[in-house]
Order: sequence, then structure tokens, then C-alpha cells
Amino acid sequence: MVKVGIPRALLYYQYYPMWKTFFEELGAEVVVSPPTTQAILFSGSSRVVADTCLPVKVFCGHVLALVGECDYIFIPAIRSVKSKIYNCSKFLGLPDMTEAVIPESPPILDIDIDINQGKSKLYQAIYRLGRRFTWNPFKVRQAAIAAWQAHLKYRQLMSNQGLTPPQAIERMSNTIEAEPKTLSGNSALTQATIALVGHPYLLYDELINHRLIHRLEQAQYRVLTPEMLTTEQLELAITRLTGRPYWTYEEEVVGAGGHYLEGGVEGVIGIIAFGCGPDSLMMDMVQRQATRLRTTPFMSLTLEEHTAEAGVVTRLEAFLDMIHRRKRRKAEVCA
Ligand code: SF4
Repeated sequence: MVKVGIPRALLYYQYYPMWKTFFEELGAEVVVSPPTTQAILFSGSSRVVADTCLPVKVFCGHVLALVGECDYIFIPAIRSVKSKIYNCSKFLGLPDMTEAVIPESPPILDIDIDINQGKSKLYQAIYRLGRRFTWNPFKVRQAAIAAWQAHLKYRQLMSNQGLTPPQAIERMSNTIEAEPKTLSGNSALTQATIALVGHPYLLYDELINHRLIHRLEQAQYRVLTPEMLTTEQLELAITRLTGRPYWTYEEEVVGAGGHYLEGGVEGVIGIIAFGCGPDSLMMDMVQRQATRLRTTPFMSLTLEEHTAEAGVVTRLEAFLDMIHRRKRRKAEVCA
């Protein structure tokens, strides 16, 4: 059976169930790289120039982790998935960059996705990818339909049931006996709700964010993330804040940030990657909105490969302490 490798980085968190279903429907076995480790991060960093953003360095490390483990590696070049809304340039050049910096990479299965070129071009691109496994166009069509269904189910699990991408993937994979715990369903000890906003590859990679979600849960905070909002909620928040979006990620940064700042949570933490141009602009908008509204405390954390765990912990503790004092003051005033 042909083995297709998928790096556990970047768009993995958004599309893994869809990609997995597509390849499995075509008879391939899907192999995923292991969760990020220091060794993976260091190996990826060693292949690219120093000012490359952290998530791309992590991605390169995951490609290296798949060398020798699969026959092909799937690296799509995704320009746009919504009309006139674009991905950052790193995503467009991902297959070419990988080929250049990791010559030992397994052969790359790539596909250009740009919805602005029209649906027929998209279908042709999917068919070209499927032809690597079968000449039967109906089989490719069936695989694409099944993949889309899997994606819808994945989205629904997150927005309706409050699951994070790793939890929803676990739920869909059927490999565990117990149901994963939802972030939004913590115990009665729960004190307050904190929203995390940022790219999924920063929020859910426990190595690079120093287990932020885990730390908040341990402190008995209920955690909300962008994936737990519906597309309509995110789009509405963006329209209110900036009008029409330009970057694909405005939903998970500006949309989620704007939505959560308007109420329902005690604090918002924005996570950005050092060296990311779009993030610096988008998180600035969220920061300005927080200053304008003055209703919800906001903190931004910038992550890079040298970010020390102690630094993250100290800032987190100070932020939570401030929220705690704010709550206590409010309670005293009400009493
Ligand atoms: S959006 Fe930012 S963090 Fe993500 S790949 Fe592009 S530059 Fe890197």
C-alpha cells in the first residue's frame, strides 16, 4: 500500500481529516509525523534562514521526521479558499521551499488551490492529484466528496461541541475508547473563561506554546478558541471590526479576537509568531479594539524558538492574577 506522509504542522490542524479521508478513499495509507519535539524544531530551524517564522521552521522539522517513513509527502500550495481572501506567501511556496531546503524529502504530492480561478480549475487540480492513485475519475470524485463530508463533520465537532482540533481529530479517528474531554466542559471548579486567539498551529502545538491550554486548564480556567465559533460568528465580528478581510487568518485572529472581546470571557490572550507580517498587523487591530472597548483584559504573547518557558509562565501568571483581582473587585462593588 502506498504511504502518504502528512506533516503535523501548519494546515494540518485545519484540514487533516479531509486530507486523510481523501487519500484513504484512494487506497493509500496515511502517516502523520509525531507531535513536535525539541529535536524536530532544531532540525527544521537548521534548514532555513534565521528570520523565517517559527511555524515554517516547525513544518520543515516535521518533513524531516517523515523522511524514510512514507512514499510521498503531501504539501499543498494553498493560495485562497475564499473569494479574494489570501493566504500568506509562505503557504504558496511551501512545496517549492521544501524541495529546495530538504532535498532528501520523499517525492512531494502537491496541489495548487486558488478558488479565485474558478471551480473548474479546482476540480481539475483535485483530479490531477487523485490520478497519482487511480485513473478512474469517478473514484477520485467519490474520494473528494467523502473528504468534504469529513471536513464538515470536523468543523461541526469543533463549533457545536467545543472541541479543539486535536480532540476532534481524536474523536474522528475512533482510536480511543474514551470520549475526549471538551475544553468548554470543565468541572464546577471552573473560575473564569479565557479565550485564546491565533493560528491553530500556534495554539495547539504544545511544544512551541509551552502547553498553554494545559496550564490554563490546570488553573481551572475554561478555555475557548477560534474553532469553537461558527463561520458566521467570525465573519460578523470581522465585518464589525475591519470591514472586508484580506488574509485567510483574519477569522482566527481578528474575527475571534473581536468576538471574544465583546463579552462572555474574562480575558483574551492573542498568540503570535515572531517574524510573521500578517500577525503583527492583525493582532494590532485586536489590541486596539481591546483598548477601545476597555471591557475585557487582553494580553499578546509572541512565540519564537528561543521563547523561554519561564517567561511564558510568568506572563501568564501575572495576567491571571490581574483577572482574579478584577473579578474580586467587581464582586466587592456589587456586594
Ligand atoms: S501567517 Fe505568519 S506564522 Fe503563518 S506561515 Fe505566514 S508568516 Fe508564518
